[in-house]
Amino acid sequence: MSEDSALLERYQAVQTRIARAVEQAGRKEGSVALLAVSKTKPVEMISALAKAGQKAFGENYLQEALPKIARHPELEWHFIGPIQSNKTKPIAEHFAWVHSVDRLKIAERLSHQRPPELGNLQILLEINISQEASKAGFSPEEAMKAAQQIAQLPNLTLRGLMAIPEISADPQQQRAVFAKMKTLLQQLQAALPELPLDTLSMGMSGDLEAAILEGATIVRIGTDIFGARSYPATAL
Ligand SMILES: *Cc1c(COP(=O)(O)O)cnc(C)c1O
Repeated sequence: MSEDSALLERYQAVQTRIARAVEQAGRKEGSVALLAVSKTKPVEMISALAKAGQKAFGENYLQEALPKIARHPELEWHFIGPIQSNKTKPIAEHFAWVHSVDRLKIAERLSHQRPPELGNLQILLEINISQEASKAGFSPEEAMKAAQQIAQLPNLTLRGLMAIPEISADPQQQRAVFAKMKTLLQQLQAALPELPLDTLSMGMSGDLEAAILEGATIVRIGTDIFGARSYPATAL
């Protein structure tokens, strides 16, 4: 089997898992978007998936992402990695979405640096839902105030929440954490009805089913599409 056909087979298998979980959850067909997380993988793999119809790609490292974006400006690029404040300008200029907004200062810089002619940058608040000391993100208690402040900023549209929960192999445990994210989003929706808060970015290769059962609208899948990475993700 050629490398490309193995890639397309894994991609198809992930799409099937998503469709099954959507059905099992009793949710509408097409209500969960697949973000293909291409970090550390060559642009040729992105080209092959784009040809197969995949539109949205996630990247964690700016230096690595920029040449890929230059090759495929027609795709929808999502920044999902940790953000240093000196990197916000190129992120604001080259991405359509940012999932990893973890402090107000980052949102302010993205707002200021987003070229207005590109339209609003779509952003998600990263929530440290498992309350791990080592992880970035707003605590669940901080989310409301942050959302209210970020809602005021020009050139950004706050769309919802993102989380990278503590790794667990137990589906019940996975679901319990994702359910907390859903409740938090519902609280924000009730308090800020003027915002289009329609997005829950949660679920990766090992827990996409649990995330979809609890309301994920974007799942971020790397390994199960592209294969194992030869160097680890700094976000994990
Ligand atoms: C790497 C990464 C993913 C993809 O993880 P896999 O387990 O390889 O599917 C998803 N989200 C974030 C934030 C990541 O850094």
